[in-house]
Formats: sequence, C-alpha cells, structure tokens
Amino acid sequence: TEGKKSLPFQAEVAQVLKLVIHSLYSHKEIFLRELVSNASDALDKLRFRNLTEPELMGNDPRLEITIAPDKEKGVLVIRDTGIGMTEAELIENLGTVAHSGSRAFLEQLSKAGTAKDVNLIGQFGVGFYSAYLVADRVEVITRAAGPGQRALLWSSDAQSTFTIEPTTRAERGTEIILHLRPEHKDFLDEWRIRDLVGRYSDYVAYPIKLEKKPEKDEKPEQPEQINRANALWQRPKSEITDAQYDELYKHLTHDFEPPIARTHFKVEGTQEFAGLLFIPRRPPFDLYDGRKPRGVRLFVKRVFIMDDVEEVLPPWLRFMRGVIDSDDLPLNVSRELLQDSTILHAIKKQVTKKTLDLLEEMAKERKDDYETVWKNFGQVLKEGLALDSEYKERIAPLLRYGSSHGEGLVSLADYVGRMKEGQEGIYYLFGESTASLQNSPYLETLTSRGFEVLFMSDPVDEWAAEGLREFQGKPLVSAMRTDLKLPLDEEQKKTKEEASTRLQPLILRMVKVLHDRVREVKVSDRLTNTPSCLVLPDGGTPAFMERLLKERGR
Ligand code: ADP
Ligand code: MG
Repeated sequence: TEGKKSLPFQAEVAQVLKLVIHSLYSHKEIFLRELVSNASDALDKLRFRNLTEPELMGNDPRLEITIAPDKEKGVLVIRDTGIGMTEAELIENLGTVAHSGSRAFLEQLSKAGTAKDVNLIGQFGVGFYSAYLVADRVEVITRAAGPGQRALLWSSDAQSTFTIEPTTRAERGTEIILHLRPEHKDFLDEWRIRDLVGRYSDYVAYPIKLEKKPEKDEKPEQPEQINRANALWQRPKSEITDAQYDELYKHLTHDFEPPIARTHFKVEGTQEFAGLLFIPRRPPFDLYDGRKPRGVRLFVKRVFIMDDVEEVLPPWLRFMRGVIDSDDLPLNVSRELLQDSTILHAIKKQVTKKTLDLLEEMAKERKDDYETVWKNFGQVLKEGLALDSEYKERIAPLLRYGSSHGEGLVSLADYVGRMKEGQEGIYYLFGESTASLQNSPYLETLTSRGFEVLFMSDPVDEWAAEGLREFQGKPLVSAMRTDLKLPLDEEQKKTKEEASTRLQPLILRMVKVLHDRVREVKVSDRLTNTPSCLVLPDGGTPAFMERLLKERGR
C-alpha cells in the first residue's frame, strides 16, 4: 500500500461487531484479557520462529507487553514486541472470522437462536473484536518482525469497513489503540488495570508493564511490571522450592497456612496440560454451604478462564485447590461450551486420577497427615462412593473408621486382614456418635464372638456404605440386620431352642401388644446382656432412609 485504502469487513465480522456493541453487556472487562492474550500469542510466535529465523528478533531481544493509559486523550494502548502483521495478515486476521474466538462465538450464537440468549454469551471472549466492548474506534499499528517490513495503520469504528494505510513505527510488533467510549474511561485508571491484569493475566509468561504518563512537570517513570509472569506450574519440579509452592498456594487461596500436601504434574499425549493441586490443612469455608466451590483455577495457556472446582474435579473432591493450565482448550470459550467439551472431560478424568494418587500416597507414607486430611475432608470424599461408582474402587482404600478393635481409625484393608473364619462380611454399625455406638446392644453378639465392628457416625456414612456394598470381595453387613449369619456351636444351638419354647407365650403376648407396629417378634441369639432390640427386616428400609423420611414428615 502507498496511500490509504478502505476495505469491507467480511459479512460475519460485521455481524460479530454488531453483537459485541449492542448485546454483550456483562463482562466488558474481558477485552483486556483478550488483547493481552493476543499480545502473548504474538510473542510466542516470534520466539518460536526466531529459532530458525534469528533475523526476526535481530538485536532487539525484548519480549514484553506494555499497557499505556492516556487520560487526556481517553486512549488505552496495549503494545507488544511480538511477531506483528503484514498487510495481508492484517486483512485476513482482523477483517474476517477465520479465527477461533469469533467463530466459536458465531456457532454458539446460532445454537442459542434468539436475541435474548445473547446475554448468555456475555462471558465469551470474542477475541480482538471484544475491543469494541469499550472502544468506539480502534486503531492497530503493526510492523511485522524482520528486516524490510513496513509499519501499517489499521483503523475502524466498527461500521462496515476498515482502512489500512502506511505509517511509521520503529520497532517490530503491534499496538492496539482503544479510543474508549466516555462511559468506559474507568479502564484508564491505574488501579483498575492492575486489578484486571492481576485477575486474568497474572501468569502470562511475558512481563506486562504499566506505562504511566508523567504529569506536567514530573519526570517520566520507568514502566512498572504488574504481573507475576511466573507460572510456577509450568516449570520443572526440580527448580521449585517448597517455599515457592507455599507462596503460590497462599496467593491463590488467601489461606494463611501452608497446604498439607501438593501434587504437581504434567500430562502429555492427546491432552497437554499442567496441574498443581493442593490439599488445604484446614477445611475451606465453602465446603458444606452448598455454594459452588471455587479454588481450582482453569487456565488456557497461562490465561485465567474460571475457577469453578467442579469443572475440573468431581464434587466429592471439591476441597482441592490449585491450578490446571491447558494448552489445548480454545481460549475464547464460554462456560456452556466448556461443559460439553470432550477436552475438559478428559482433563477432569486425569485430574481426578492425580488427586486420588496423591491421597493414596499420603495414606501409605504419611499416615498422620493423612488422618488430618481424612478428619477434615473424609465426609466429602465419602460422597463419591454413592455418587460415582466409577471411582468406588479407588476411594474404598482411603476410607477410615472408628472400630470396636480399639482406639484410632482403621482402614477396610486393616479390617479384612483381621477377619475371623466364618465371618460373613465387614460388620458396621451406624449411630449418632462413636461413644453411643460403643454401648450399642447390636454390638454384643458380634464382639463377643470376636468379630470387629466398624463405627459409622457421619450423616453420609450409611448412604456411602450403600454405595460401596463390598470391599475386596467382602460384603458390608449392617450389624442391625436380622439375617446376620452367626455361627453357633452345639451348646448355643441347644440354648436357643430351649429359649424359643420357653419364651413362646411371651412372644405371642408381645405380638398382640405391638400389633402392626412390628413385622415380627423373634427369639434371637444376637444379644448377650440386653433383653431385646429392634432390627431391620430383610429388604427393610435402611435406618438412614427412615430418618430422612421422618424428617420430611412422611
Ligand atoms: P484468536 O486469538 O483466537 O486467533 P482473535 O480475534 O483474538 O482470535 O485474533 C485474531 C488474529 O489476529 C490472531 O489469530 C492473530 O493472528 C491476529 N492478532 C491479533 N492480535 C495480534 C497481535 N497483538 N499481534 C499479532 N497478531 C495479532
Ligand atoms: Mg485471541
């Protein structure tokens, strides 16, 4: 180009622009995340291509992003020293919707259908075009890296055309100039910019600098770096100290104590992502309050996307905290798209596995710490037995219970290892508290025969036990069931028979008195000191269901 020329936007671009301007009211602030991530991509591209074409970087090694607000002019500039664009690239990249973000946006839009659903897409990134969320005119000055490239100025007020003309720019890279609408001048505020960069772009791999325009008689300040630019999780473990891990954890969670455990991993293959997960030492506040737990942040290429734990972990691992950073997910993706994304599904599976690996390793090698974890989060973990049969087998070895065996907690493996001959399964007893269970009449027959009984006193325990059913081929058996198969020796059999005859009149009387309040009255061999107890008939409603139904007034 020598002079200035005016070109039409591709029809789809015009459509996107119109929607951006008129329909996306919420989350206007994401424009900064989008533009910074484009700058970061441009720097990535330069760094990569420079490996084989060192003339691209030449003697200017700077790889950085600068944000420069100018309150006087009402202009916000986002500048990078990246790959830049040639004229053909400018037309292609900013004049058509060949690119991921805007395309996904249009696809989602055609799915959503009606105009009122458009707000639903307010959480979307629409890439470069999101600049028009806050600006009524955008200029792009760009110079492609490498010798002999010329600077160009792209400009559009988001009507149906844009212009391109030659301009001057000494260095390679791109400068996005936003002429902010009057009502969005707050984005020129230094603290607003710091906050947004801190929230969305803190871990972008390149320094993001804030360039402050000096007041009339002030000396210009050096631009200040306002992001950490240190995505710890992307670095090899061997280079990271415990203190650095703890510091990141505290930064992410606002917890003042260091975590009790962590796992740092990279998954390669079809899904590439890095993960750094922590187990807090104490339960976070939001564990049981039914709100969506936040605390595992999902990043795409170092750029923050969202922090719903349940997008990357099942609800029964909602106590985990940390970071997942994917290289494969598209950045400009909505929550709705994410939810049915097969990529996210695969990530969730891997992250679940890594978390269970960590818990397993702790249970084996750091028993005391594991007990702390269990006391804090066991109740949550147990929900998985009932909710997620896929992971039952992995959760079961992690369970810990009080037991008639003695003080402290036992695992199911401990229990099975101690099982007696003739014992039909893993006996458990459900009740209000361990103390009340220790004096329970249901315990007598079993413990007097030397059988161990597990104490379950969490509200979720019975539900969880129903979900678990068995462990290492041994069924879980409620000590409250009538059909306990207890081995009797000759003498015990004789006593039972005698008692049955002797007690027949009493039983008849009891049946009469209790009438339809019980199904059956039976002589039992299960009690030693207590005269009678209530038991569950075969196929009867489990006690926790009874309680639940009672609570609801059935
Ligand atoms: P996406 O980033 O998903 O490709 P965008 O709408 O954000 O979509 O950007 C469109 C394209 O414009 C990018 O793919 C890139 O080629 C180009 N582009 C945008 N910003 C820059 C920049 N700062 N430097 C170089 N190229 C850029
Ligand atoms: Mg982009």
